[in-house]
Amino acid sequence: MTVRPMVNRDSQFFWDGTAAGELRIQHCPSCEALRFPPGPSCPRCGAFDQGYVVAAGTGTVFSYVVHRHPPVPGKELPIVLALVDLDEGVRMVGEVADAVGPDGQPEIEIGTRLRVDFHRVDDDLTLPVWRLEEEQR
Ligand code: ZN
Repeated sequence: MTVRPMVNRDSQFFWDGTAAGELRIQHCPSCEALRFPPGPSCPRCGAFDQGYVVAAGTGTVFSYVVHRHPPVPGKELPIVLALVDLDEGVRMVGEVADAVGPDGQPEIEIGTRLRVDFHRVDDDLTLPVWRLEEEQR
């Protein structure tokens, strides 16, 4: 079992994106603002128009926690959850894979560069997961 995110009319494009291997950020066609999390209207100009851009998939750790307890269904703890500042300027929370060392200490710090990857859970759900950028080279 996996904790499933809520998918609604406002966030459907995001989950369609992860399924397609894209990290999508909601974009306001009226004022060009980017926003996350997705919502029905633009917090900057109030427009109800919605579009999206595909993020480069890279970002920087703004802050993070090592989650050791309570248990999370489908997860082997500890895991690292980070607030990631995308290079496009929005901030989102996500799991950082393989970021806990054998000693149980996190292997990231504030400012660590991350790159998004996608974990396909099943036909209906693909979750974004972050990895240390240098590991992909
Ligand atoms: Zn706007």
